[in-house]
Amino acid sequence: MKKKHIETTLIHHGYDAAQHKGSLTPPLFQTSTYTFETAQQGEESFAGYDSAYIYSRLGNPTVELFEERMAALEEGEAALAFGSGMAAISGTLLAFLKAGDHIICSNGLYGCTYGFLEVLEEKFAITHTLCEMETEEEIKSSIGPNTKIIFVETPINPTMKLIDLELVVKVAKQHGLLVIVDNTFCSPYLQRPLTVGCDIVLHSATKYIGGHGDVVAGVTICKTKELAEKIRPIRKDVGGIMAPFDAWLLLRGLKTLAVRMDRHSDNAEKIAAFLRNHELVEDVWYPEGMLANKQMKRGGGVLSFTVKGGKMEAQAVMDNLKLIAIAVSLGDTETLIQHPATMTHAVIPKHVREQMGISDNLLRLSAGLESWEDIVRDLAHALQKEKTALS
Ligand SMILES: *Cc1c(COP(=O)(O)O)cnc(C)c1O
Repeated sequence: MKKKHIETTLIHHGYDAAQHKGSLTPPLFQTSTYTFETAQQGEESFAGYDSAYIYSRLGNPTVELFEERMAALEEGEAALAFGSGMAAISGTLLAFLKAGDHIICSNGLYGCTYGFLEVLEEKFAITHTLCEMETEEEIKSSIGPNTKIIFVETPINPTMKLIDLELVVKVAKQHGLLVIVDNTFCSPYLQRPLTVGCDIVLHSATKYIGGHGDVVAGVTICKTKELAEKIRPIRKDVGGIMAPFDAWLLLRGLKTLAVRMDRHSDNAEKIAAFLRNHELVEDVWYPEGMLANKQMKRGGGVLSFTVKGGKMEAQAVMDNLKLIAIAVSLGDTETLIQHPATMTHAVIPKHVREQMGISDNLLRLSAGLESWEDIVRDLAHALQKEKTALS
């Protein structure tokens, strides 16, 4: 069968209404456990002789439909859903690392991902090296005898710097390293790392996958079934599973992912253009250029900018906003703004933060789905008010 376009896969993949009494939307299996017909069937299920459902920490039909759809979208063979993006990241890393191992990461990571790396170091002597990953030589020079994984965020949160996935894959292949990509900022609609040779993709599904700010969830998608089977026992025993209702909400969110991502990108482009021309704005970071064109369909909905001055001036601009909400998270229908140095990235020590390019006057904005003109008017008003206060 010819492969469907992503817009169709988002809505239909893996679901047959005829098998569910004609229900157009997938049913929600809100159950913790499953009954066996006989004691013998129970024995056989536990022995692994049949694929019957046993208990929802081990498997649930609603969660599995979400997993199947995510695997198709990222063009992987299998996916595993988790209770949060951090459960996906920690569960996936734990599956492939043991005491004394080493991991190379992009120089710029989600704050709690960085926090988890510190936990790994403290408890298991698993060390990490932050790397710009701009050249082959630089990546190679970070590799040691115990290096197992290259972990990449692109675009990097919140500096929006891009990492060349093909370059990372090339070096990783030469050294037998696993490449794991946090694809939260793009969603599979804008970037599919497995198609350029990466091994594992993971998401905070809380963001664009859900898209409505009402779920905290995560998912890991693997290039092969074998990789997924290494993670599955960790998920079962650590227990960071996804709730069936959350999977149901995410399946609903996915249906509109393509239209949402295009509108998020339209709005972010317009907002970036406005900010670039504003005298109170120093720099605007939004993915564009050759590398963006090579590996991303569009720039996405997140952008960052620095306000002239320092922390006080940046926070004053936030406080002047009326429509745009002050909140962490991203990918929601509402436009959100936050101050990384004191919010999402506050756990990272100041000197590391600065080396990552997260200054005190940096703001991160997640463009929502409102009218871009209303968003820009809100920003214009907030910046004008700050300008007046300064003069
Ligand atoms: C939010 C986020 C995470 C963590 O996900 P949770 O669902 O909050 O646990 C990880 N990576 C990135 C890039 C994120 O934005």
